[in-house]
Amino acid sequence: MIRLNDIIEDVNKYLHLSEKDVEMIKKAYVYSAKVHSGQKRSSGEPYLSHPLEVSGILAQMKLDVSSIITGLLHDTVEDTLATSEEIESMFGKEIAVLVEGVTKIGQLPYTSKIERQAEGFRKLILATAKDIRVVLIKLADRLHNMRTLEHLREDKQKRIASETFDIYAPLSHRLGINWVTNELEDLSFKFLNPDEYKQLSKQITKQRKAWEAHVKEAKVILIEKLSDFDLTPEITGRFKHIYGIYRKMQEQNLEFENVYDVMAFRLITNSQKECYETLGAVHASWKPVPGRFKDYIALPKGNGYQSLHTTVIGPFNERMEIQIRTRAMHEIAESGVASHWEYKEGKLDKGSTYEIYATLRQLLEWKDIQDPTEYMDAIKGELIANVVYIFTPNGDLKELPTGATPIDFAYSIHTEVGNRCTRANVNGKLVPLNHQLKTGDTVEIVTSKDQNPNRDWLKFVVTSGAKTKIRNWLRAEERKQSEIVGKSICERKFKQNGLDFQAMLKKGNLKKALSELKIKDVKDLYLAVGFGKISANDLLKKAVPSDTLDSKGDRERIDKIIKTITSSSDGGVLVRGYDDVMIRFANCCSPLPGEDIVGYITRGKGITIHRNDCQRLLEVDIDRRIDVEWDSKFKGPRPARILVTCTDKPGILSSITNTFSSSEVNISKAEIHSTDVEDAIGTFDVVVSDLSQLEDVMKSIKKVKGVKSVERMQEIEAL
Ligand code: MN
Repeated sequence: MIRLNDIIEDVNKYLHLSEKDVEMIKKAYVYSAKVHSGQKRSSGEPYLSHPLEVSGILAQMKLDVSSIITGLLHDTVEDTLATSEEIESMFGKEIAVLVEGVTKIGQLPYTSKIERQAEGFRKLILATAKDIRVVLIKLADRLHNMRTLEHLREDKQKRIASETFDIYAPLSHRLGINWVTNELEDLSFKFLNPDEYKQLSKQITKQRKAWEAHVKEAKVILIEKLSDFDLTPEITGRFKHIYGIYRKMQEQNLEFENVYDVMAFRLITNSQKECYETLGAVHASWKPVPGRFKDYIALPKGNGYQSLHTTVIGPFNERMEIQIRTRAMHEIAESGVASHWEYKEGKLDKGSTYEIYATLRQLLEWKDIQDPTEYMDAIKGELIANVVYIFTPNGDLKELPTGATPIDFAYSIHTEVGNRCTRANVNGKLVPLNHQLKTGDTVEIVTSKDQNPNRDWLKFVVTSGAKTKIRNWLRAEERKQSEIVGKSICERKFKQNGLDFQAMLKKGNLKKALSELKIKDVKDLYLAVGFGKISANDLLKKAVPSDTLDSKGDRERIDKIIKTITSSSDGGVLVRGYDDVMIRFANCCSPLPGEDIVGYITRGKGITIHRNDCQRLLEVDIDRRIDVEWDSKFKGPRPARILVTCTDKPGILSSITNTFSSSEVNISKAEIHSTDVEDAIGTFDVVVSDLSQLEDVMKSIKKVKGVKSVERMQEIEAL
């Protein structure tokens, strides 16, 4: 078991620890020992060994003091009685937030379903972490758990190894921490493919001596050749890691014996200029393998990695991979992000703190930020502002833009799920359909075949997919409505003139008129009339000579005929001759059951119901009016607005509202204004079942002492 003093010593190699820092590290150690006391690892070791090893790994990653302390405390909140509040009061907010972040990542549900969506899950981890150090601590935690995986049950080994392979090794690679990536890959490989692993390591062990001899000799020759060019880089020789060899065998379909570039040399130079000079010298000495040269100095990898790579045919006619880089580039290649950090008195320098967040954002967006000013822009906005990660009930992961609602989520699953979405449960609780989803939410959509998309949805959905699909549905629906409406208008217009539209159509009497109007078929005609592009009257005039039109075609007579085809609809209003037509109540007059009403056939939006005496009706096309009547079974609720003028004295408002409630009329909104005379004017938005209920309550209010007048207002907001 690593000792605390070893860790402190390691940390002191790359940053200067103050006495206070050391004190804090020791305090964390004592606290962790206390809360974990009595707990054991599966290996039988005391639990404390784990946080200690994790901190040791963090020191190897050259992280800051807060990360080292968090390493010691990272399992306390999850696995002991310790609380976040306690951690904060003892170690400060920063540490508490880091511990909380590591705990949260540990609680993300990794299921076999997610295997197929590894990238989404990696992003979820980054989004949850909010601070790149949380990810690094989690990597250290995972590395130690992988090192001790043999003590777990086999099914657990497989699960943890596959999660490591799919999620954590790629994260580590992305962060550029080579040694951690390699070790995570090798350890996952060992538990996921134990047979291949055993065989390959046996072969490697067998070869190792020969390789080592080769490396030694090649190194001597390399030093000699380079000194001819006055170049003296530091040279290290090494072998590929086991999984690296295995991957190469898989990718190129090679037998172990045929994997030649197992040997690799690393040449560390003093300057970038020397890198290219060294490359020239190497190529002058040995033949380069075509297509293997890569200049990652001019074009760095996304994780900041810089180096020159080449493969040459070496002195033993074997392929040798050669990497050439400066000392600074080497630091980055070894420790990844943390190598950019600058420490001031053991704490992260301000610039490095920016880097911590910027890196996370960069990783999350999975693209390369090259320009340093972009880092600043990136952190000015809210971190990870653009996306949320949402789970389906069976553990699938969806990435949606921030502000996404259950409707967006439903459409992201399937168009039909979106179109039929009636309700949504978020984390088991019913929410409104415009509820904004948060990362980590589990969302369940309830559908119904009676549900249709609603124009209001367009006001809150944020994904373009959902918007398009809602618009498409509405457009198709408008066409359907227009077709029905257009057909009825044609039939009515002809009937008013004593003609049978359908019979004439069948006999072909309308052909000429239709072609004159440039209408290709009957469906086209219905749409054109329904959308108001042409009028039924135009058609009539073209189809029938005007002197033969029946002048006695008065509407009353015709209406009586149509009355026989009355059908019911859900809206509480019966529309003659129309099945399945959308009905809306006009907001201008807000009719109540019991009042005389008229329908107005809108262009593509079904039928709007107005009061018979509504002023608006005077403005509209008389051809588009239609007789409608209330369904006798319909009992609201319908909105109404009442204006009450009364004397401005205490208690009167409560008398009025009491009158409403004793008439069982609900008030949805009330506003009272004093006038300059001694009066007050109250506006009450109420909900009633029909006209008689409204009239009754208005009568009762008129009787309240102090009330001067009660009026009904026309304009009202929709329910
Ligand atoms: Mn742990």
